[in-house]
Amino acid sequence: MRTDVNTLGEFGLIDHLTGNFVLQQPSSLKGVGDDAAVIDNGSFCTVVSTDMLVEGIHFDLAYTPLKHLGYKSVVVNLSDIYAMNAFPKQITVSIAISNRYSVEALDELYAGIRAACETYGVDLVGGDTTSSPKGMVISITAIGQGEKDLLTYRNGARVGDLICITGDLGAAYLGLQLLEREKQIWQENPDVQPNLEDQQYAIGRQLKPEARRDLIETFRKIGLKPTSMIDISDGLASEIFHICKQSGVGALIEESGVPIHPDAELLALKFKLDPITCALNGGEDYELLFTIDPNDVEKVRFLPEIYIAGEILDPKDGIKLNTKGGNLHVLKAQGWTHF
Ligand code: ADP
Ligand code: MG
Repeated sequence: MRTDVNTLGEFGLIDHLTGNFVLQQPSSLKGVGDDAAVIDNGSFCTVVSTDMLVEGIHFDLAYTPLKHLGYKSVVVNLSDIYAMNAFPKQITVSIAISNRYSVEALDELYAGIRAACETYGVDLVGGDTTSSPKGMVISITAIGQGEKDLLTYRNGARVGDLICITGDLGAAYLGLQLLEREKQIWQENPDVQPNLEDQQYAIGRQLKPEARRDLIETFRKIGLKPTSMIDISDGLASEIFHICKQSGVGALIEESGVPIHPDAELLALKFKLDPITCALNGGEDYELLFTIDPNDVEKVRFLPEIYIAGEILDPKDGIKLNTKGGNLHVLKAQGWTHF
């Protein structure tokens, strides 16, 4: 029998492959299934996350400067560590490259990696270098540290908790649509210069995302521990689905509470897309989705860049979106389908 990998989807495939592994070490506090694995080291825990980026799937060098690619490759990993309410400390970087890449090109990639290390205060401590028949693959592992009782998992949301979102959503996806469109125009007519000047915000969100270290620091300062947390890498719908599935709860998201940048709204309309659809299913925002106990609402109510966007419900209520027009929609997690 032969089953196509597409039949299971990303999350189904991971469950299928890893479901039979039983954790044997008492120090393996969290294995597969969260933003990062958690390893017990006494009062502190080590938090580990890894991601692989493949040319032609996750990045396109036609419009991605190598320096930005290096920076983003690090940031997406750090984001998973912050999503555990922990702080990244080290990274390892492994690359597979074809002979199409020069030393100068790799210097650019590493200039971006170094810039991210400096910005986030993490050390590059190892990796691996090998050849690839075609294109480039980058795999980065981030290692972080967190206090055991402050770590936040995807499974801690409780009925009545408030759902919070940081920053704004959808712009990175729209930036990608713009870059793809300009690439296509350029391929059809190489004399036309791309005109991206008035879309700096969306392009920047796509090419140079940042991880929300600032908000994890804020949580420490104001003494807030979210009940659950995940970073928004695949779109809000997919991430709220993970929180609900792992916490055994339902959720109601208010469309009016989902933060969307005005530039993203305008750009969505230009592409004839609904801005909320971009926020729900776009991805690559690297913002945080977290839930808080309602008693903590005063701690976040007036904080900039934190928006209350809904409430955790009973599992029988499912996962719903209350639109600005007052209609209730059932949310479906689309996740990714890359194969
Ligand atoms: P994220 O979007 O936060 O990076 P993923 O969706 O990539 O998370 O992964 C979900 C979980 O599955 C993580 O715990 C990750 O470590 C684990 N995982 C993904 N692929 C594999 C694999 N091939 N083998 C073992 N664990 C995996
Ligand atoms: Mg994540």
